[in-house]
Amino acid sequence: MHMLRERAIPTAPALVGSGRLVPLVTGGTRPYVNLDYAASAPCLVAVERAVGELLDWYASVHRGAGFLSDVCTRAYEGARVAVGAFAGARADDTVVFTRNTTDAINLLASALPGGARVIVFASEHHANLLPWRGHDVTVLPVPRSPDEAVARLDATLRVAHRRPTLVAVTGASNVTGELWPYAELTAVAHRHGARLLLDAAQLAPHHPVDISAWNVDWIALSAHKMYAPFGAGALIGRSDWLATGEPFLAGGGAVRYVGVPTFDGDTDGRGPIDVVWADLPDRAEAGTPNLVGAVALGVACRTLEASDRVAQAAEETRLADRAEAALAAIPGVRCHRMWDATHPRIGVVCFSLAGVGYATLAAALSAEHGIGVRHGCFCAHPLITDLLGIGQHQQTHLGRALRKRSPVMLPGAVRMSIGLGTTAAGIERLTQAVAEIAADGPRWTYRTSADGADAWPDPDPRPRPDLPFDLA
Ligand code: PMP
Repeated sequence: MHMLRERAIPTAPALVGSGRLVPLVTGGTRPYVNLDYAASAPCLVAVERAVGELLDWYASVHRGAGFLSDVCTRAYEGARVAVGAFAGARADDTVVFTRNTTDAINLLASALPGGARVIVFASEHHANLLPWRGHDVTVLPVPRSPDEAVARLDATLRVAHRRPTLVAVTGASNVTGELWPYAELTAVAHRHGARLLLDAAQLAPHHPVDISAWNVDWIALSAHKMYAPFGAGALIGRSDWLATGEPFLAGGGAVRYVGVPTFDGDTDGRGPIDVVWADLPDRAEAGTPNLVGAVALGVACRTLEASDRVAQAAEETRLADRAEAALAAIPGVRCHRMWDATHPRIGVVCFSLAGVGYATLAAALSAEHGIGVRHGCFCAHPLITDLLGIGQHQQTHLGRALRKRSPVMLPGAVRMSIGLGTTAAGIERLTQAVAEIAADGPRWTYRTSADGADAWPDPDPRPRPDLPFDLA
C-alpha cells in the first residue's frame, strides 16, 4: 500500500513508504521525515512494481534455455542498456553490474595497468580512498576552492611521467553535498594523458549525468541511493583496462573455457588451471548475476530520466539552501562546507550543535521528533577532520588510541540529506526540532557509547512494528 504524500515537484516519481508514521519516545506518532537519502534512498513505486512483476518470471540469467531464463536474460541485458543510456555512455563503453559503488571502484582498482599511479583528493569517501592503497597513490589535500582543486591537479600532473594515471574524484561530496568541478578536472586530466573516474554515488541520484558530454572515463554508482534498493551498482566507462588481465572475481559466467591438468601418472593433477576468459561485460561479472538488482536499477534509471531531473535538482538545492540558512541562524549551530556558499551543491547539509554530541542530536531528532538523519564521519574521516579543524597532532593521537583500543572520543557531525520525497514542511520540522534542542536540550535521556559515536534513548518505549515475517 502506498500512502499519499505531498511531493516537492508534482511530477516527481512516487516513492514507497512515504507518509509512514513512527512512534516517539514521548508518546504518540508522527509522519517520518526522512532526511537520510544520501545513505540510502527509499524505493521508487515504479521499481517496486517492476520487481514484483519480475519475480513472477524469475529464473536464471545467461544460464538456461528455458523460456523464463530467456525472459530474465533479456530483462538483465535491457537493464544494462537503460543504465548506459542514463549515464550517457559512449557506444564503446561497458556497463558492468556490481554490488554498489564500493564494488565498482574496487573493480577498477583491480584492473589498473601495471605501474599505474592514482591521484585522489583527501576529501573522498573511503570507497574512493581505500581501494587505491597498494597502488602508487598521491593524495592531494582538501582544496579550499574548486579552482584550487583544478590548479592542484594540473600542477601534480604537470610533473613528467609516462605511466598510466588515474584521477579518482567524487561528483558530489557525501558530507557537504558540494559539486566538484568534474568536467574541468577531466579536461585537465586528459590534457596530461591521464584518465578520470567519477564517483557518482551521490551525484547520479540528484543531478543529470552525462559521461560523454563531460568526457569522463568511468563513473561508479549505487542503486540503493538511486531509489532502487536491491543490491546492485554499476561501473560504466572505458573497456580497455577491464578487458585484459585477471578479472576481479574469478568464477562461472566469466569464462569461455576451463581446462585442468589431466590426472595421470605424470602430473598427478598438479599444474595450472587453464582458462579462456569471456569478453566484457561477462568477464567482469563472475557468479550468478543480481538480476533483481540490475532490473531495479534499470527501471530507476528509466523512471528518473522520464522525470524533470533539472527541476528536481533545483528544488532539492533550494530546500537544502533553505535548511542551511535556517540551521545556521540557530545559536550554537555550525554548518560545515569546504567552499563558499555560492558554490553549487546537491541537497546535503552537514552541521554540529555546540554542547550536544552529534550522536545525541541525531538520536533526539529521531526519538523525540520522528526525523531520520545520519551522524558520525560519513565514511570520510579525512574530510571530517579537516572540516572540524582537527589537527595532525590530534589525529595521530586518535589513531594511536584506536589502535591500542584505548577510550577515545570520535569526531563527527550530523548530516541531513534530501531527495524526491522531501518537502518544505519536512525541512521546517527539522529546523524547528534543532532550534528546540538548541534552546532547551533534549527532553529525554540518552545513553551514549564510550567513543561518543552512538546514542540511544534510555529508556526506549517505542514499540517496534510487527513485520509479517519472523527472523528471530
Ligand atoms: N562514494 C560516495 C560519495 C558515497 O556517498 C558512498 C556511499 N555513502 C559511496 C561512495 C559508497 O557507496 P556504497 O556504500 O553504495 O558502495
